[in-house]
Amino acid sequence: MKYISTRGGAQPQQFCDILLGGLAPDGGLYLPESYPQVSAAELAEWRELPYHALALKILLKYVDDIPACDLKAIADRTYSANVYRYCRPGGDASEITPLTTLEPGFHLLELSNGPTLAFKDMAMQLLGHLFEYVLEKRGESINILGATSGDTGSAAEYAMRGKHRVKVFMLSPEGKMSAFQRAQMYSLQDPNIFNIAVRGMFDDAQDIVKAVSNDAEFKAKYRIGAVNSINWARVMAQVVYYFKGYFAATTANDQQVAFCVPSGNFGNICAGHIARMMGLPIARLVLATNENDVLDEFFRSGVYRPRATAETHVTSSPSMDISKASNFERFIFDLVGRDASKVRELWQQVDAGGAFDLRGTRYFADLPGYGVVSGSSSHADRLATIRDVWNHHQLMIDTHTADGVKVAREHREAGIPMVVLETAQAVKFSETIHEALGCDPARPKELEGIEKLDQRVEVVDASVDQVKAIVTRNC
Ligand SMILES: *Cc1c(COP(=O)(O)O)cnc(C)c1O
Repeated sequence: MKYISTRGGAQPQQFCDILLGGLAPDGGLYLPESYPQVSAAELAEWRELPYHALALKILLKYVDDIPACDLKAIADRTYSANVYRYCRPGGDASEITPLTTLEPGFHLLELSNGPTLAFKDMAMQLLGHLFEYVLEKRGESINILGATSGDTGSAAEYAMRGKHRVKVFMLSPEGKMSAFQRAQMYSLQDPNIFNIAVRGMFDDAQDIVKAVSNDAEFKAKYRIGAVNSINWARVMAQVVYYFKGYFAATTANDQQVAFCVPSGNFGNICAGHIARMMGLPIARLVLATNENDVLDEFFRSGVYRPRATAETHVTSSPSMDISKASNFERFIFDLVGRDASKVRELWQQVDAGGAFDLRGTRYFADLPGYGVVSGSSSHADRLATIRDVWNHHQLMIDTHTADGVKVAREHREAGIPMVVLETAQAVKFSETIHEALGCDPARPKELEGIEKLDQRVEVVDASVDQVKAIVTRNC
């Protein structure tokens, strides 16, 4: 399997060659040159498989430069019940992504039972094992530099902690994350994890990462890498739970399902699109946004108009506070018939701070064929949905999942089960849960009191040089 760039200007590469990098050299995103298809016989066989075995089947379709037995060992280690143990009381951790039924034909797929209680663990844990494996083979090492406003940084650190040949330098805005999120990251004592709190906002931290990555000499000398959401392996890992969720919500492979996906960078739902392109019977992908509704606007109108950072709303589902969806280019590449020159033309407009408008084009006419519908949600909707699910089902859902449930309810179709992806646990966003319900979510026992553990974090000004100095000193 070769990987090509959405902008058409990069050499086709093998999986291990694109694993450690981010963007393709031409500024595009990597995708497989074609989507492997799943036959009816395979789908029948896969229905019975436990998660790690299903993951292996799907990985084997995308990775042909790692021996199958090694890939199997990686999948087994990544998707073990021990890693995804924070499931609901009475839930079955060995399912890895258990399905909870709220009412007949309306389900939650629990993706947030991993170490950091958000769905990003599902892919990041795999990345941790793949990185370690490939670096060991090549005798190389990597220093991951990232910026986080919460979920990504902790998922990356828990995936990479203790891994040989990998160090993580994670920037976060000082004092802007919740006490729980800070404790999750800063209490890690692993010597390969470096927490750096930047005096400033998330964007300041992000700008520093960009500046360091654009310094080609520094980047090469210190082997700076990234694990952001455009990484192909993350998208690939996410394809697996669409299959798992499909099997859990249906009884036979002639049935169809709908998935509702709380979306920000379009990474999660992009994996659903790919599962559908592989032949999984997905009738509908329902994209849910919060007040940052750029993607909802596109699927309703055909106009993609990313907003300036200053126009981004700060909401109570903060991991969806994104106004330029970094993975969206992958979907558009398929929509325009994989015409890289068209993608280049459209993103020239986007990168210049503009928008593109597909109304009246044949691409817009093709859009319904991709099965995506959308909706948005507000803070008041989240509170009402959290209350409603609590009152009717005695389940606490987090704010992002609440956006999903709200929008999913608007798109139900007779005879098609709806599966809402549960992207985080309520305990991560307890302030809003408290506002909705007047009480706090229960916390997994092992995580009680983590705010009191010793914390390891270095505070710096929003200065590229100070961050570079920390990297230099520790490499
Ligand atoms: C990252 C995240 C999202 C958004 O996922 P994308 O892949 O960026 O669309 C939604 N919910 C939670 C809890 C997240 O952490």
